[in-house]
Amino acid sequence: MRLSQYILPTQKEDPSDAQVSSHRLMIRAGLIRKEAAGMYAYLPAGLRALRKVTAIVKEEMDKAGAMECLMPELTSADLWKESGRWESMGPEMFRIRDRNSMEYALGPTHEEAFTALVRSVVSSYKDLPVNVYQINTKFRDEIRPRFGVIRSKEFIMKDAYSFDVDQNGLDLSYDKMASAYRAIFDRCGLETIPVQADSGTMGGSASEEFMVASEVGEETLLICRECGYSANQEKAGFKREDNVAGEVAELREVHTPNIKTIDDLAAFFKCEKKVFLKTIVFVADGEAVVAVVTGDRDINETKLKSFLGAAELEQADDKTVESVTGSAVGFAGPVNCDAKRIVFDYGVAQVQGAITGANKTDYHFAGVHPGRDFVISEEADIVEAIDGDLCPECGKPMITRKGIEVGHIFKLGKKYTESMKVNVLDNNGKAVVPLMGCYGIGVTRTLAAVIEQHHDEKGLIWPKAVAPFDVHLVGIGKSEGEKAAIDEVYTALLSDGLEVLYDDRKLSPGVKFADADLLGLPVRITCGKSYFQDGELEIKIRKTGEQLTVKPDVLAKKIREIIAGLDRE
Ligand SMILES: [Zn+2]
Repeated sequence: MRLSQYILPTQKEDPSDAQVSSHRLMIRAGLIRKEAAGMYAYLPAGLRALRKVTAIVKEEMDKAGAMECLMPELTSADLWKESGRWESMGPEMFRIRDRNSMEYALGPTHEEAFTALVRSVVSSYKDLPVNVYQINTKFRDEIRPRFGVIRSKEFIMKDAYSFDVDQNGLDLSYDKMASAYRAIFDRCGLETIPVQADSGTMGGSASEEFMVASEVGEETLLICRECGYSANQEKAGFKREDNVAGEVAELREVHTPNIKTIDDLAAFFKCEKKVFLKTIVFVADGEAVVAVVTGDRDINETKLKSFLGAAELEQADDKTVESVTGSAVGFAGPVNCDAKRIVFDYGVAQVQGAITGANKTDYHFAGVHPGRDFVISEEADIVEAIDGDLCPECGKPMITRKGIEVGHIFKLGKKYTESMKVNVLDNNGKAVVPLMGCYGIGVTRTLAAVIEQHHDEKGLIWPKAVAPFDVHLVGIGKSEGEKAAIDEVYTALLSDGLEVLYDDRKLSPGVKFADADLLGLPVRITCGKSYFQDGELEIKIRKTGEQLTVKPDVLAKKIREIIAGLDRE
């Protein structure tokens, strides 16, 4: 491809709205163009890279025995009503009407569509297992699109759905996908961290996320370097500290006028935050629920919500707090609490001689002993694990890392097959409900993640497998004869089967080299003075910065060697 005739609008300046490297570099290297908030056009070089990621995904899915389909992006409301998700999907789903007032959603995910498809084509256990997938555009009405193509309103996903007659089958399908995912990310040059995750609104049991470590990732991971435990902060467990000792004395009431926050209380009582019991009132599906955690911890609402099995969870307003505790906000506590349901974090039972609100405005209790002064009726893990917390598996301290989710696999079980009435006859002629798994890869996000992991201050450093081209040929010649000689080198490289971007623009060498570094193709060849004088071409390897010279007759061979070497690293 001749750059003089190519659309590659590189720019020196970072876009003002870019917070992450991939966003910044994809715009600057001319790979994408912002059309509107959360909407991007892929320009020719960006699309070439995207197509390479797509091809890798497709090859590995096909190898794992999955079958590619293409579903309509417009999905009928009836489908979503069958599963009950027309209501529960919320405002992130784009909903539209046609001229006859029929309702549709622009597919944010396709569990319903594929379940309906499979329902219509399977009838016996002999028809299973099946695994169907598509690589298609998805839509999400993001409240705050950001990070370029990482969180946009429209993106390309690979979504696969497996159907099996029993649990063994599902386990097998799931494991196949887990290894296909490892192969895909590996081939794209991505280092991923597989983590246990919360299944959220997708429902179901086992689930694993594939995360790419990144400084600015949207999600926080807790990782144990000792035993390999890793989990999303939404789900990560940790070992609680044993026997936290507070004031050993008897239960006593202390006047604490207008002292409400844990910080103010810690100063007032001259105590560590961990001896306080923080009591927070929530409303879960319309019912008041009280949660009690130690003062040094934040409640993790996702964990609480999942423990309660609630669809909606929010902090109670002041009026509700007052009616539940009989006191002003800031003085709630588990002693003499009339709430119907109180959930205690595992850490609470460890504190002896705690300080907590007295359910009486301007008063706290000190010397509170769990078990003696209040009953721990329901105990659960409802606080957020943080850096340095002890691993739930081996007890060693964990570290936190930020990450971007690029893939997610779930064992959904019967969630959709049951609600959408899918049946097959088993080998005894009895009707059974198939078990389902679902497996997603954010394809556009994977491309961005590759850039997050492969760049430097000058620009991109493409892994060979997903680079838009193999070679960046920089021509530096003024006379017609020199230009013709460079053209010959270009043609020879093409006929050797290499993918070449040829910078034949009338620009200074400095500008051309800067663009070559910015675009970051694996190998740069300079064809200029040393070629015209000594017949030698200059090669620069983008990843290592290494430079060498070669004669034209061995050029293609040398480039293949270099590229193969880069792949091996
Ligand atoms: Zn561990």
